[in-house]
Amino acid sequence: MSDSAELHTSELHRAELHRTAIAALEALGLAGVTHLPAVDPPALGKSTSSQQTSSRPAAAKTSKTGGSVSVEAGKSPATAAKEQSLLGTAVNVPKLSLAEATQALKILADEVSACTACEELASTRTQTVFGVGNPQARLCFMGEAPGADEDRQGEPFVGRAGQLLTKIIEACTLRREDVYILNTLKCRPPGNRNPSEQEAANCRTFLDRQLEIIQPEYICCLGAVAAQNLLGTTQSIGRLRGKLHSAPHVTSAQVMCTYHPAYLLRNPAAKRDVWNDMQFLMAEMGIELPHR
Ligand code: SF4
Repeated sequence: MSDSAELHTSELHRAELHRTAIAALEALGLAGVTHLPAVDPPALGKSTSSQQTSSRPAAAKTSKTGGSVSVEAGKSPATAAKEQSLLGTAVNVPKLSLAEATQALKILADEVSACTACEELASTRTQTVFGVGNPQARLCFMGEAPGADEDRQGEPFVGRAGQLLTKIIEACTLRREDVYILNTLKCRPPGNRNPSEQEAANCRTFLDRQLEIIQPEYICCLGAVAAQNLLGTTQSIGRLRGKLHSAPHVTSAQVMCTYHPAYLLRNPAAKRDVWNDMQFLMAEMGIELPHR
């Protein structure tokens, strides 16, 4: 077997183990188990030094770009809270390496591009719009669905709303390539209508697997569709924004909700609220912002 074929196979195997572990945790959560006793790592078998470093991401504050960059000592309140969660306490799923995450996302993107589960969307799309950014990002921005520009270019948030999102990201002292940007739906609904419940359900597996591969520490939902789908709620974005949420049955990430950039284009006065949300999120992430 060639080196690349071996890498491919081991990544698939690891991603599968990853999914199995997440499924087991979800099952425990559904059974009402909210905490597990701490387990001494040696009892689970000998770990490599890289596993030991990455198996407790919640115990240290990573740099703002995520991935395999420098790690500082210290723990934010959000990180401490995360350690209390089912996913962050005793069972730690190792984060995929950059090569593994990149390859696993590529495999998933190929699967998405062939998907025809939503007949109308599959027959009207130019192409699927999977996601873009750092496969090991600490922060994911999650929108609703591709629009016309995104459908044409195959990348999320590239139209006017996308340009505004880029400005928001840069105001947070980050770059688009530092974060990961994805949508609830991978195909454009005709006329930019809201995704139907069935379409969101169809695409949910892809979203969950994408997040399992990236394992972000934070997800920023842009708009009600993303927030309500991820958190499984019908609350308005006005009520959801301004604080962090947990969705341990879905992700170990802390979830922030704020207005969609497209809404800001129609209602510029809401930019102040979004900036307040972003300042709060950056503080939770340990990212210092310059005074404005
Ligand atoms: S929206 Fe998602 S589930 Fe529906 S056809 Fe596109 S990729 Fe498949």
